[in-house]
Amino acid sequence: MGRYARKKQHKGDKPLKEKYRTKRKTKDWDQIDEDLKPGNAEKLLNQETDFDKPGAGKFYCLHCAKYFIDLHALKEHFRSKPHKRRLKALELEPYTLAEAERAAGMGSYIAPKKRKMETQSIPEEMKTEESEGT
Ligand SMILES: [Zn+2]
Repeated sequence: MGRYARKKQHKGDKPLKEKYRTKRKTKDWDQIDEDLKPGNAEKLLNQETDFDKPGAGKFYCLHCAKYFIDLHALKEHFRSKPHKRRLKALELEPYTLAEAERAAGMGSYIAPKKRKMETQSIPEEMKTEESEGT
């Protein structure tokens, strides 16, 4: 019930790195929504090499907020069920999703807004990296 209404008193008072080390939970929907916005998405997809992260932080799925060890793992993930399920869920805007849940309980259902959600494209330089050796 209160899953979407988590309190955020301490949001942003820790460096990102530390957050990942101490918490194993995935990001909140609204956070992922934030990540998907044009400027943020680019930053996440072009993050600096960080060897604390799987794959040095180079293979990241925006929609699932997950790091993968290599391009192959990332591609496999894009084809996986959890990823596709996540895309579907993200087609509904997070806040609308929470609203709809609440509204449904009260008998007045507001249809959530739909939006198009697509798997991020793989950067060109990664593609060439894979087909090396000619
Ligand atoms: Zn994913």
